[in-house]
Amino acid sequence: MPRAPLILITPENCRGCRRCEIACSWQDPGPLNPRLAGIHIMKLDNGGIDYPVLNDRCQDRFCGKASPGNSGRNVPTCVGACLFDALTINQENEHD
Ligand code: SF4
Ligand code: SF4
Repeated sequence: MPRAPLILITPENCRGCRRCEIACSWQDPGPLNPRLAGIHIMKLDNGGIDYPVLNDRCQDRFCGKASPGNSGRNVPTCVGACLFDALTINQENEHD
């Protein structure tokens, strides 16, 4: 049976702030470079709609970049950085 995704995306909640991209990149060694993050905010409809797109690997399993505010739980830092619930943890995946 396919594994449930770890991160649920609710595009209509996304404000395009890009905190998720920055938070992900912040945990990598070297200079901050959101272009190398595992998540990217696409601009749809001529720039009118922000749409988060995650790497497949991020969807499948915890990436190891723990969100500072969620120590002890496998909450990726992109999820912790999202203030608008556009990215949330799928409880079904977290506890299997
Ligand atoms: S799941 Fe991890 S690697 Fe993927 S975007 Fe979020 S913080 Fe980055
Ligand atoms: S942090 Fe959340 S609201 Fe901001 S761009 Fe990323 S997914 Fe969208």
